[in-house]
This record gives sequence, structure tokens and C-alpha cells, in this order.
Amino acid sequence: MSKYSLVIHGGAGTILKESMTPEMETAYRKGLQEALDQGYAVLANGGAAVEAVLAATISLENNILFNAGRGSVFGKDGKQEMDASIMEGKELMAGAVSAVKNIRNPVQLAYAVMTQTEHVMLNGQGANDFAASIGMKTEPDDYFYSSFRYEQWKQVQHSGEVALDHNIAVRDKKFGTVGAAACDMQGNIAAATSTGGMTNKQWGRVGDSSIIGAGTYANNKTCAISCTGHGELFIKAVAAYDVSCLVEYKELSLQEAMNVVVHDKLMKIGGEGGMIGVDAKGNAAMIFNSEGMYRGIRSSEGMNEVAIYK
Ligand code: ASP
Repeated sequence: MSKYSLVIHGGAGTILKESMTPEMETAYRKGLQEALDQGYAVLANGGAAVEAVLAATISLENNILFNAGRGSVFGKDGKQEMDASIMEGKELMAGAVSAVKNIRNPVQLAYAVMTQTEHVMLNGQGANDFAASIGMKTEPDDYFYSSFRYEQWKQVQHSGEVALDHNIAVRDKKFGTVGAAACDMQGNIAAATSTGGMTNKQWGRVGDSSIIGAGTYANNKTCAISCTGHGELFIKAVAAYDVSCLVEYKELSLQEAMNVVVHDKLMKIGGEGGMIGVDAKGNAAMIFNSEGMYRGIRSSEGMNEVAIYK
């Protein structure tokens, strides 16, 4: 049995202690710990890494504080469209959905794409049609609505500005795309990411979160990665896969490779954000170049921590 571990994130950005009330901080920490516990229980029971990242990500999607599933941000048209993906590192199986509406747990739909179709990525209405065909749980618009995300959108609606939800200066700051990466007892790894995307996004914009190689990647030979940040830059950097390449071809450690991508390559192109990752030995890392990143780690070696700021 090898060392097992789970890392999660709830988004990165301008997350400052000054703009957080003690109650909000407690609520975020509680949400992160719940997700960590859900995912870790799967690993501790001998479950697969892919099931652990699914469980942790669903828990975060169900939490209105985070920008994924319930509590997703609003696009230019006042609608909430969500992106999600999941990948496992043993067989390199992957599934993704983009611009889906009213799906309670987009990451579960991505998992269904991976396990029940010949495809890797379904988008928009087609993805929603597939969800209906397998009886996936949907919710009315009200379920996804949150007044703070609505306020964030109202601030930029007419500006043409597209914003990371983390970086909008609103009275009541709330943040968070979500993701998880895990290594199980068998030494298999997996990653998942889910998001409402960026506030005021337009024209069917799709971010990195649903793109295999950009926002999510997993390969037992190298690492499993889930990203958060300015999606366009993470796509251009092919961020998650680049970490894998640095591990594979340059033989860097997980942490070294993540540092190169986050602090050097992404920084050079203005790619604000961060990522979490594991390798097949159960090593884990959480790296970001922004003010903060909601994050947590739990391992069979006794680590159990959630953190927010630098
Ligand atoms: N990466 C996400 C996107 O661009 C946003 C985020 O991480 O908050 O859609």
C-alpha cells in the first residue's frame, strides 16, 4: 500500500485577510474541510483517486461560496454557464463538459462523459441533452443564484470587462473555481476541476477548467493537476500538461515543475492564479502566484490542513 493524499482548491486571486470577516473565513474553511473529508474518506476506504476527486469536487460545487455548480458567476447575458473536467492517470481516461446550464454537478456530468460515451468533451446544449438522456440531476435557475455573484456581475455588466470572480472589489467578496487532485493506495492518480468561469464572459466563452491539458491533467507516469486562475492564459500556457512535461522530460519533481509553470511561465504572460497537484508516490503541492488561494491537503501521513492566504 502506498502513501495516499488529496489536495483541493477553491480558487485563487486577490484574497486578502483585510477583506474577509472572521465569519466568512470560518465558512470558507469549513467548506474546504468538508470537501477534503469527503474525498479523503474515499481514499481511506481503499477507493480510487478518480472517485475521491469526484467526491471532493461535488462537495465544493454544492457549496454556494465557491464559483462552481451552485453559486456560479454570471455571464454577460445574465446566465450561468459552467465548465468541468476530470481525468484519471492509469488509462488516461478523461471527460469534460463546457457551457452547460442547470446541471447540479457539472463534474459528475464530465465523469459520465468519461465513463459512458466515446467522447472526451461535450459542449453546450449537446452536453445538456446527454445529461437529460442519462437522467442527470438538474436544478432551476434559482438554485444557482446567489446575490453576491449577481452584484459582482452588475458592477461590470456594462463595462465590457471580464473578471476573475476573485478580483472584483465588491462589498462582500466571494471567490472560487474548485478542483481536486488525489493519489490512492494503489498509486493511481486523478484530477478534476469545475467552474462557473469568469464574470461577464460572452459568446459561449469556455475557460481552461474544462480543457484537458490546460486546467486539468492526470498521468500516473507524471502527475495530476487542477488549475485555477485567468483561464485564457492557462489555455495558452497549456498549464497542467506543461507541468506533466517538465516532470516527464526534464525529470523535475512535482513541486519544481509546478513552480516553473506558476511562478515563471504563467507570470511572464500575466497568468494570475495557481494549481494543486499530486504524483503517483503521494507527494502533493499547492502553488499560486496570486494573493491567496483557497486550498487544503490531507494525507495518509497525517497532514490535514486548510489555508487561504500566502
Ligand atoms: N480558470 C477559470 C476560468 O477561466 C476561472 C477561475 O479559476 O476562477 O474559467
